Order: sequence, then C-alpha cells, then structure tokens
Amino acid sequence: MANSRGQSRNTKQLELIWRAVKDDSSHPTADQIYDRVRKKLSHISLGTVYRNLQKLVSDDKLQVLMLGRAQHFDPLVERHQHFICESCDRVFDVMVDRQREIKPAKLPHEGFKVTSHQLAFYGVCKHCSA
Ligand SMILES: [Zn+2]
Ligand SMILES: [Zn+2]
Repeated sequence: MANSRGQSRNTKQLELIWRAVKDDSSHPTADQIYDRVRKKLSHISLGTVYRNLQKLVSDDKLQVLMLGRAQHFDPLVERHQHFICESCDRVFDVMVDRQREIKPAKLPHEGFKVTSHQLAFYGVCKHCSA
C-alpha cells in the first residue's frame, strides 16, 4: 500500500484545515484557524496547522496576506484587494477592475522588477460606522 497510516492522517488533517478556511472570507490568522481546527482535532499542534496552511498556499488554494504584523489566510486566490477596518480589524475583499489597477510607471525603467503588489484600503467598515 502506498498510503501509510501517517500519510492518511496527514491527508485528514489537511482536509480538515482546508474545510475550516475554504468558505471563510474573514481572512483568519493561523491562530484563529488553529482554534477552530482544535475543536475537531484536539491533539493537533499550531505547527501542524501552520505547515498545512503553507501547503495549501503552495497548492494555490489559499493566499497569504501580510496585514499589519500578522499573516492572514484567504481562500479567494483570484486577484483582489482589501479593505481593513481600523476599528474592528475586520478584513474585507475588494474586487478591483483589472484596467484600473495601479501600475508603477517608473520602476521598470529604473531596473526594478515588480513581481506583485498589495494595495489595502483602511477606514471604518459599515458595521462600525452604523
Ligand atoms: Zn469595523
Ligand atoms: Zn481577500
């Protein structure tokens, strides 16, 4: 059998972690995902959760965002931007039309190679401004 016990356990953990984040548009941190997964799999470690999240990122199922000091995981891998509420720290997806994206006009001419960019909008969300 190609599938050892260890491997099927790993697959189960990966599956559980994926299910905990796949429909989540709240951009949870590894700690928040860990808290969720731990309710189902009490012996799982934060390191294991973290490793599995990295695997999902390298499989292009999740993207990781650096917002402030924490890494946030996002199942929406299509290109988009974020709005961060300065009052409740919630992160919202903002779809930006491709034609309207910001392109650095000067950098390529100066020998810089841009591989990606992140644009974030900061403000107060509708829940906090109501
Ligand atoms: Zn808010
Ligand atoms: Zn997002």
